Amino acid sequence: MIDDKWGALPEHGVPAERVLDEIRALRAADRPTHGGRLFAYVYDPGVAGLDELAQAAYAESAHVNGLDPTAFPSLLAMENALVAAAARLLGGGPGTAAPDVVGSVTSGGTESLMLAVKAARDARPDLAAPRIVVPASGHAAFAKAGHYLRVAVDPVPVDPVTLRPSAADVAAAIRPETVLVAASAPSYAHGVVDPVAEIAAVAAAAGVRCHVDACFGGWTLPWLRRLGAPVPPFDFAVDGVTSISVDLHKYAYAPKGVSVLLHRDPALRAPQYFAYADWPGYTMINPVIASTRSGGPIAAAYATLRHLGEDGYLRLAALTRDAVAGLADAVRAVDGLRLLAEPEATVVCFTSDDPGLDLFVLVDELTARGWHTQPQLAYAGLPASVHLTVTAAVAPRVAEFGPALAEAVAATRAAGPVELPAELRALAGSLTPEALTPEVVAGLAAGLGLDPTAAPERMAVVNTLLDAASPALRERLLAEFVGLLQRPSW
Ligand SMILES: *Cc1c(COP(=O)(O)O)cnc(C)c1O
Repeated sequence: MIDDKWGALPEHGVPAERVLDEIRALRAADRPTHGGRLFAYVYDPGVAGLDELAQAAYAESAHVNGLDPTAFPSLLAMENALVAAAARLLGGGPGTAAPDVVGSVTSGGTESLMLAVKAARDARPDLAAPRIVVPASGHAAFAKAGHYLRVAVDPVPVDPVTLRPSAADVAAAIRPETVLVAASAPSYAHGVVDPVAEIAAVAAAAGVRCHVDACFGGWTLPWLRRLGAPVPPFDFAVDGVTSISVDLHKYAYAPKGVSVLLHRDPALRAPQYFAYADWPGYTMINPVIASTRSGGPIAAAYATLRHLGEDGYLRLAALTRDAVAGLADAVRAVDGLRLLAEPEATVVCFTSDDPGLDLFVLVDELTARGWHTQPQLAYAGLPASVHLTVTAAVAPRVAEFGPALAEAVAATRAAGPVELPAELRALAGSLTPEALTPEVVAGLAAGLGLDPTAAPERMAVVNTLLDAASPALRERLLAEFVGLLQRPSW
C-alpha cells in the first residue's frame, strides 16, 4: 500500500497522481459509501452530480477559517443561512411559535449534544453537581457529554414493547439538580419517536430545559409529515422544547462534518459561548468546541441544500419511505425474524425469535453478499437486533434485498449459531473491566483468531463474546481492541 518506510512523510515528495492512486488503493478496502447497500455510517441520496457539487463547494472554502466570522463573512453568511433553513424546517422563525430561534453550526451530532448540555449546565452556575435526564434509548453522545462535562446522567427506562420512555418516568427522574431533559426524534437504535410533547411538558413544569435530539430525524420527519405520515409533534411547535439538534451530514445528505444546534431564544444559547480575553493573544470567542475550523463542510452543506431544495428533499423522502416499507416487508416475510419496532421514520430494526437463526451470523452472511447492516447487542432487557439506516439510494436496491436476505437466512441456519468456547463465555461473564489488561485482550483476540493489525472480516464470534459481556466490560474490550488497531504504521 504505502510502499516506503517514510509512510505519510516521504523523503522526497510524491507526484500528485500517484498520491491519489495510493488513496484510491486504500479506499478499495472500505465498505461501499455509494450504491445503497450500506445501512449505517453513510447517507447517500443517489443524486447524480451532487458529490461533484459538494466537492467543488468544499474546495472553495476549505482554507477559510471559522475562527473569526468578521474575517470571513462568507462563512458567517452560509452558517446563518443553514441555521435559518434548519429552524424553519423545525417549527421556528418569523411567524411561528419560536420567532426568536437562534443556532450554531457544529461539526456533528455529538458536538451539538455536548453543547446543548454545556449550555444547560452553565446556565445553572449555582449547582455544584448538575444532572441530565436521558431515556435509555437516547444516543450515546449524551453519556459522552456527561463524561466530558462532569454532568451526571439519570437514565429513564424505555418500555420493552414501544421502546419509548414514559413522561411519568421522566418526571420522576427530574431532581432539583436537573438542568436538561432529553428526548429523541427518533432514537438512532430503533427509529422510534419519543413522546416529545409530554416530556417537554414535564420538563417545563419543573423549569428545566428540554433538548430534542433530532440529529437523525430532523431532516426527514418534516418531509415525511408533508407526505402524509403520522409524525407526532416534536419540534419548536411543542411548548417547552428549548433546543433541537439536526445533523446535516445525515439526511440533508451533506458531506461529513455539519450539524445544527438550535435554541428557542438567544438567552438560552448565551451560556454555550466560550469567551476568553485573559492571555496576550487574540480574544477568543467560540460558539462551538473547535476554534480553527474549516469552511469546507459548511460550504458543502450550503451547496447541497441549495441544490436539492424543498422539492428535492421531498422526492428523496418519498423514495426513502418506500424503501423502508419494502425492506420491512422483506423482513416480515422471513420466519424467525421480527421487526423490533414498526418503522415510523427511516430505520428498519429487526430481531430473531428463533435460536437457530443467529443474528450475528446473519449479519456476516449479509456482508458476504454485499449488504452491510449494523448489529446491536442485547441491552437492558432488549434483545440483540440488526439496524438498517435507510437512505434514498436504497430505493433502487429494495427488490434485490428480499432474495438476498432469504439466501443469507438459509446460510445462517445451515451454519448454526455461534458456539463460544465455554472458557471464553465464562471469561466474558466473569471478567471485571479492571482485570482487563492489554495482555488479556491480546490473548482474547488471538484466541478468537483475530489479527489485531486488521479489521476482522467475520464478526459473529466477536459480537457473541461482546453480547455475553456486561456493558462496562464491552467498553473496556473495545477500547483495548481498537487501541491495538490504532498504532503508528512504522
Ligand atoms: C448520529 C446521531 C448522533 C451523533 O451524531 P454524530 O454526528 O455521529 O456525532 C446523536 N443522536 C442521534 C439520534 C444520532 O442519530
